[in-house]
Formats: sequence, structure tokens, C-alpha cells
Amino acid sequence: ITSFAGKRVAVFGLGGSGLVTAEALVAGGADVVAWDDGEAGRAKASAAGIHVADLRAEDWSGIAALVLSPGVPLTHPEPHWSAQLARAAGVEIIGDIELFCRERAKVAPEAPFVAITGTNGKSTTTALIAHILKAAGRDVQMGGNIGRAILSLDPLTPERVYVIECSSFQIDLAPSLAPTVGVLLNLTPDHLDRHGTMEHYAAIKERLVARAAWAVVGVDDEWCEAIALRREKAYEAYDFSGTDRISASHAVSQGMFAQGTDIVSITPRGSTNIIASLDHVRSLRGAHNAQNACAAIAAIRRLGISARVPAVHIRTFPGLAHRMEEVGRIGATLFINDSKATNADSTEKALAAFPGGIHWIVGGKPKEGGIASLASYFPRIAHAYLIGVSSDDFAATLDGKVPYTRCETLENALTAATENAARSADPQPVVLLSPACASYDQFPNFEARGDRFRDLVLALPGLIPATS
Ligand code: ADP
Repeated sequence: ITSFAGKRVAVFGLGGSGLVTAEALVAGGADVVAWDDGEAGRAKASAAGIHVADLRAEDWSGIAALVLSPGVPLTHPEPHWSAQLARAAGVEIIGDIELFCRERAKVAPEAPFVAITGTNGKSTTTALIAHILKAAGRDVQMGGNIGRAILSLDPLTPERVYVIECSSFQIDLAPSLAPTVGVLLNLTPDHLDRHGTMEHYAAIKERLVARAAWAVVGVDDEWCEAIALRREKAYEAYDFSGTDRISASHAVSQGMFAQGTDIVSITPRGSTNIIASLDHVRSLRGAHNAQNACAAIAAIRRLGISARVPAVHIRTFPGLAHRMEEVGRIGATLFINDSKATNADSTEKALAAFPGGIHWIVGGKPKEGGIASLASYFPRIAHAYLIGVSSDDFAATLDGKVPYTRCETLENALTAATENAARSADPQPVVLLSPACASYDQFPNFEARGDRFRDLVLALPGLIPATS
């Protein structure tokens, strides 16, 4: 990263990406001074040879930029002290994706760059795009908000394709973000504690597609629809819809839509063509994943990949762990790890993906509203197994509507669910961990919860793993 060679740059936030950023700036000849409110981050940076000093004691008139980690509040609930100091001194505040964009503009402006954002489905869509491009023989680097920090990826070349997941925080810190293809999946209220209003949140997300050479914008919610319409007037837009084209609020005029499990392309003249089928793609179950697949295929077509390619390679997409992850089967019973579902909205997607016979393992540290919003899916649930501190609350919601057992732990829940599913008359019972809750009452994070579930399932007698 050479854009700050010979200049003094402040770096605040020394987690994974902050440390990589500081190192990349130093390697590019910048004079870096870094800080973190936590001792651990500072110690790690010092050990890596980064100059660590309290930014409150710096002379900000000599600093060219503040590079902030995406988790550090820029506006809500109030700007972090480092951002306040920078603003007071008229110093620009940027993030690692901005540094990447400036470097790309300088050394390889033609390098294909796909940026993905949205409220939900970012990681799945990013991974799917990277998977198909790799399978098609492209040199692909994937990172950003998923996996590796953007500045730790292999260096820019004109051919290398960068597939980058962007959170709203990262977009907010990247004023010159202008990808080759910008993908905006969907917008629903989320992180408003950090962005203030929905208008502000949507405006940040819109920036990812506003300056993209090609925009792929979902039209399944009113916020994205408005953005798609604005973009369509100014440029050529490429819409997709995860729901049926007819029921989408804004009919797709050019792009992709899902019809059942088929992904269909439509031209401005109205001719349609089935591009791929998700029928046997176990890693992309559910209508929400049809939306992700539409977006991915629409994006890939803009990179000069033939229309036949995604249809072939989508079938080998392994999916992401903890997101509707198929762990295995015992007889007809399917075991699904959806530990990433930490709120009712996410769990709704999982429940919607199975018509019935669901043995639902649910609970943990509940979010506001609990599981009341899922009532219309209760008829699909054969039995619920309650774990975690939410048990009383959820039992009250389910009472008289869904049979349930208080299981306390994930272990007890899986044992009971496996026995009941084996005895059930359903043609295809599903044991589904989709907790609709944070995990912190019983696990360090949702990954640990999902890993534990997977381990327990894989140890069940007679289990055939999905990967075999
Ligand atoms: P993100 O990276 O945006 O958090 P993920 O791909 O990790 O998204 O998916 C997280 C969860 O969000 C999934 O388990 C699923 O419940 C839900 N989800 C995924 N894709 C979509 C979508 N297109 N629309 C709505 N919800 C989705």
C-alpha cells in the first residue's frame, strides 16, 4: 500500500485487520503510529514491530489520515475519540478497503473487483461467487468481511479477481469504492444502533453500487427496490429477485429471478432462459439462498464467464459452516446445523426451507421479541427442544401450539430429537439446530455452538456424513 509513502498515518484498532493494515502501510513506506484501547492488540502490534503510541498525545496537524478498524463507531452512538480528534484536525478517516481501492486505481485499475453487501446473505454470496470463479479457472482472492483481511490478500495484478464482502462499516470508510461489479443483496433494519436511521444505513449501502461499473441490486424489499430504480435511470442496472418475479415488488426487467429452484435470466425484451437449477444443491436450501444464487450468477456474468459455467459449478458449492449446513443423515432423518441463526429472522429462513417434520432445537440468549414472529411456521414443527436461558420465555410462546421438551443442554436436545425423529411418521424428518438466539449463555460464540452440534451429530450411531 503505497498511497501514504513518506506520510504519517494513524491507525486505530489493532485486531486482525488493523494489524495487517498497519503492516501493509509500513511496508509501503508510511510512518505509522498505531493504538488500540485494549492492551492485547497493542502488545501484538508492538511485537510485530509497529510503532504503538497513544493517539491522544499526537500532534494531529502532522497526520495525513486516520485508518480506522470497521468495528469502531464512526457516528453512533457517538464517534469514537480517535474519530473526534481526526475530525477536529480535518484529517480524513478511512478504512482498509479504501486503501485497497486507492492501490488498485494506481497499480491495476483493470483488476476485476466484485464487492458484495446487504443485510443478510453476504458471506454465502461472496463464497459462492468465489467458488464459481475458481472452478472456472480464474485466479481468485476472497476476503474483506469474510475470511482474510483485504490487505493480506495476494498482490493486485490485472487478471486477479478480488471478491470482497463489505459490511456497512467498511463501506462507510471507503469513499472511493468503485468496484467492477457491486452487489447489493437486500436491506432490512439491522445495526441501526450503530447507524442511527434506516435512511442513513441504506444510503451507506447504496454507495457500494452507486459507483460500480455494473450494479447487481435485489428488488425483494422496498429499500433496495428504490435503489435499483435510481440506478436504472442513471446507468444500466442488473436486478435479481429471490422470490418469484411476479411477487417481487419491482418486476425484474433485466437480470435474474428464481422460479421455485430454477434460476432464470430475463432480457429487457422479456425473453427468459433457465440458467441453473438448485434442485440438488444441498448447500443452498431455501428461498433466501435462491436470492443469493441469483445475485452470484448475475455478478459472474459481468466478468465474461459463459452462462453455462455457473450451472455446472454451483452444484459443487460446499456451503458455509453453520448456515443451513447439512451434517448428515440417519435413514430418512436429516441433521442441519444453522447455528449462525442468532435471531428470529434468520431462523425463519431455516423453517421456511422445510415443509414439515421439523425437530427444532432452539434457545440461548434471546433477542427482543423472542420467537413470537415465527408463529406462522409452528405447524411445520413436529417438536421443539428448548435449550439455554430463553426456555421459560419460549415455552410460554409455544404452549398449546407446538409440543416441546425442556432440555437445558444441546446434548440432551439432540438425544431427544434424534429419538423422536426416528420414531416419527414423517417421510423426511429434520433435526434442525436454528436457535434464534445468541449463544453466549452456554457457548463462547455461534461457531462453538455449531461445532459442538456437528461433533455430537457425527458421533451418532448409524450417521452417514454429508461429505461422504
Ligand atoms: P451475512 O454474511 O450477511 O451475515 P450469511 O451468508 O452468513 O450472511 O447468512 C447468515 C444468515 O442469514 C443465514 O443463516 C440465513 O439465515 C440468513 N440469510 C442468508 N441469505 C439470506 C438472504 N438472501 N435473505 C435473507 N436472509 C438470508
